[in-house]
Amino acid sequence: MVNDNYDVIVIGAGPIGGYLAWKLKTHGLTVLLLEEHSEIGRPFQCAGMVNPSAMERVGALDTVLTRIWGARMYSPSGTEIQIGKPETTRTWSVCRKLFDERVVKLSLDSGVDLLLSSKPINANVKNSGVEISIDVDGEIKQFECRLLCGADGAHSWVRRTFKMGRPKELMIGFQIEVTGYQGEEGRLDLFTGEDIAPGFFAWAIPSGTTTRIGNWTLPDKLGERSCEDLLETLMTSPLWSDRFSNCREIGRYCGPVPSGLVHKPVINRVAVFGDAAGLCKPTTGGGIGKGFDQVDLMLERLVEAVKTNDFSPTTIQELNTTISSLRRSQNKSRALRNVFLTESTDEDLDELFEVWAQPDVIELINEIGEIDNPIPLGIKMLKEVPEFRRLASKVATALIWG
Ligand SMILES: Cc1cc2nc3c(=O)[nH]c(=O)nc-3n(C[C@H](O)[C@H](O)[C@H](O)COP(=O)(O)OP(=O)(O)OC[C@H]3O[C@@H](n4cnc5c(N)ncnc54)[C@H](O)[C@@H]3O)c2cc1C
Repeated sequence: MVNDNYDVIVIGAGPIGGYLAWKLKTHGLTVLLLEEHSEIGRPFQCAGMVNPSAMERVGALDTVLTRIWGARMYSPSGTEIQIGKPETTRTWSVCRKLFDERVVKLSLDSGVDLLLSSKPINANVKNSGVEISIDVDGEIKQFECRLLCGADGAHSWVRRTFKMGRPKELMIGFQIEVTGYQGEEGRLDLFTGEDIAPGFFAWAIPSGTTTRIGNWTLPDKLGERSCEDLLETLMTSPLWSDRFSNCREIGRYCGPVPSGLVHKPVINRVAVFGDAAGLCKPTTGGGIGKGFDQVDLMLERLVEAVKTNDFSPTTIQELNTTISSLRRSQNKSRALRNVFLTESTDEDLDELFEVWAQPDVIELINEIGEIDNPIPLGIKMLKEVPEFRRLASKVATALIWG
């Protein structure tokens, strides 16, 4: 049973839309969740890594395919560093369809209304609320709400319709799922090099009985090449071809990775979340954990604004300020990534890996390295590893001007 008037309408039933709708409903608001596809969780573009803190918040351990505790990382010429300890879970490799379903089910169980095969056609912000026309499985219906939220992914209709700007970076991620990869249980492999992932890295991630092999980069670093060309180069490279010789492809995915929080994620009675807001991490491309963080940081103030129906300029400014910490940490992570990876030549990377491979540096990485928050490790390395000190001024400059 669906009404035509809600406190909040959320566009997009991905993980962030599902999480947002659930949280808003459990704080006493009425919520309608819209999904343009006829089912939840398909199609998806994801390597399926969910960090422990995000997993804890939605309790979806039954969607885990492999527990990841470590990584093997390779320089362009093949220097290996191994990090991680089996007793410490670094991230979970999940079935992304099941994960999305589990998050959306949390919202439905709490009383959120869901419309599948539905998408917005038009929306107008008025003084008292938002009027929105929705195509519900081919039939146009009118709805009203106090707040309209876009959790509608990288190409967000909400962000474009309300001219909310663009994320600073839009990387391309490409991935195939294979059987037969010669990897190690519980460890992901990361490969670097201009000919396989210029400025970024390629990965092989164990996911139960299969492995997800992919790469990501910025379009302007590709030149005449495609991401498929780069993956082919990795899989046939004399250094690594043994690992890929028995691989059989069973699926492929390609998608955008938007990174760079838009200038104002909240304007008037409209807010964007997750990929729609440009929240993917510049260091790994992961977007689920940061999207959950955004919801948690904004929730209390957002609920108050909806309940009092106060969307004055002061309130909007306060709402945008609640996520300033996310913007700062994203900028710092990008600066560190640029200095350690994106702006490095293959020769630079080979040198960096020689330093990383030293036992005391590995110890440091194991001690304070976190996939989700690389800033403390990056800063400590710049301060304590003599070979990296020369990079510190580059990071500082990037932070000031970036
Ligand atoms: C190759 C690749 C690998 C990745 N690997 C990881 C990873 O390992 N870990 C990680 O955390 N992140 C990863 N990401 C990023 C991750 O997939 C996203 O950050 C995450 O899906 C963001 O969730 P979201 O809910 O904001 O958006 P989405 O997951 O894109 O969900 C948006 C939802 O909105 C719906 N929608 C869109 N437009 C409309 C509309 N107009 N009307 C109604 N519904 C609409 C869509 O159908 C979809 O269901 C990867 C991305 C790529 C490309």
